Amino acid sequence: METTLRGVGVSHGVAIGEVRHMGTAVLEPPAKQIRAEDAEREQARARQALEAVAADLTARGHLAGGEAQAVLEAQALMAQDPELRADVERRIAVGSTAERAAYDAFASYRALLAGAGEYLAGRVADLDDVRNRIVARLLGVPMPGVPDSDEPYVLIARDLAPADTALLDPSLVLGFVTEEGGPTSHSAILARALGVPAVVALPGAVELAEGTVVAVDGSTGEVFVEPSPERREELAAAVAERKAALAASSGPGVTSDGHRVPLLANIGGPADVPAAVEAGAEGVGLFRTEFLFLDDAVRAPSRERQVAAYREVLEAFPEGRVVVRVLDAGADKPLAFLTPAEEPNPALGVRGLRTLLDHPDVLRTQLEALAEAVRGLPVHLEVMAPMVADRQDARAFADACRAAGLTATVGAMVEVPAAALRARAVLREVEFVSLGTNDLAQYTFAADRQVGAVARYQDPWQPALLDLVAAAADAARAEAKSCGVCGEAASDPLLACVLVGLGVTSLSMGASSIPYVRASLAKYTVAQCARAAAAARAEDSAEGARRAAHAVLSGE
Ligand code: PEP
Ligand code: MG
Repeated sequence: METTLRGVGVSHGVAIGEVRHMGTAVLEPPAKQIRAEDAEREQARARQALEAVAADLTARGHLAGGEAQAVLEAQALMAQDPELRADVERRIAVGSTAERAAYDAFASYRALLAGAGEYLAGRVADLDDVRNRIVARLLGVPMPGVPDSDEPYVLIARDLAPADTALLDPSLVLGFVTEEGGPTSHSAILARALGVPAVVALPGAVELAEGTVVAVDGSTGEVFVEPSPERREELAAAVAERKAALAASSGPGVTSDGHRVPLLANIGGPADVPAAVEAGAEGVGLFRTEFLFLDDAVRAPSRERQVAAYREVLEAFPEGRVVVRVLDAGADKPLAFLTPAEEPNPALGVRGLRTLLDHPDVLRTQLEALAEAVRGLPVHLEVMAPMVADRQDARAFADACRAAGLTATVGAMVEVPAAALRARAVLREVEFVSLGTNDLAQYTFAADRQVGAVARYQDPWQPALLDLVAAAADAARAEAKSCGVCGEAASDPLLACVLVGLGVTSLSMGASSIPYVRASLAKYTVAQCARAAAAARAEDSAEGARRAAHAVLSGE
């Protein structure tokens, strides 16, 4: 029997397929006592699990190759460590279950590593992953991490962090459903980057049984469990209709009265470039370089590796413009070797530009790698810093760019309300601002973007957020500089028109949204967009703002 669940649709399209769960971190096994006569059997079970996990990690290493192989093989060695094995067996001999013994033995190994200098401390995350695998195997629960499946599936998770998804095979993921997260969470961003439908903040998502068939509608936020044949037909017809309408949209972004609004793509690395080119992106408006850094918990990627990745992206847009954001680590994107381990409130702590100013060597290497990557290429390179809060931050970043010999246009992301309110001061140090509306909403509403329970505040139609966008756009106009939007707000076709009406000069979004936004902009004049923006700002709720803008633009 079909049932319908409702969450928040964050990436258009429909996916129908079987559910597979993202294995979550293992909970602490209970400290149960075993009988002395069971000890030998438990020890054999533990040995088997250690060996199986080591073999699995080695096999994954062979498959992955490159730097990932070295990391996976180092993890396999941890599972085979004779001291660790002896410790597990000792703990079982005095009454622990195999899973509890493994859990405790890893805890003491972990404490040793954590206190053993920067390099070894950086391996703690890898060690935790090995522990989780061993305990999961012993408990008979799904392995942590991405599902091990050869067939395409709908991925279910509590929420997805960038690090979780690094090993995801995009050709197997039909769509995402998450229990937590809001429209600006990384699950939503990743789904748009992959061009797959997604629904977030869906209560009960993690209780869907493995293998259940679901139909995910990423536009309406509906998830149909065991969809009926009629439902499947209805969804397929809607998809075909939408595709036909979009196929008619091409060319640069422009309003119906000829006002140009460059439509740019948000990418996480060279792998996202083909989809951006195919969608007709006029360049890249946000290159999230942190994805290059997430593969290795211990150190930044080498300068050579960075040059190669940046060059691959820059070469793809010979006539266009590419905006590279320097590393945005911390909070929801922690990097073990940079992010302070014990912050009471990581989103309000040392993250984004603050991290880079604390580690000037990492920033310098990245800027020098960019300078080298762009040498001899005709592309227009722009570089921006995340989490700029004030003029002093903007100046520090501009100084670092100059010191690295980088000849690029330098900008600042406006993600903190202070920077939006004082955008003119920021713009005295840099050439452009780009609004990161995801974080800007998070900080405006004091609502964590990863928490499903506060998703309503993350709605980019919130009039307070629109006011801050207007403040930044007005400042840019007054300084004769540009003001783009690269947060998820830009990917909503109706809101995109409102943003243009507020004075935003370019829009950057996941490639799959570009055709929708292009088609929407082409229907209205700038004056209509400005009227819709004013009507939205006159409301007191996100829903009211959306309705008011819609009423203006549809002539109701
Ligand atoms: C934003 O905060 O809007 C943004 C574009 O950056 P990220 O989503 O990567 O934090
Ligand atoms: Mg951000």
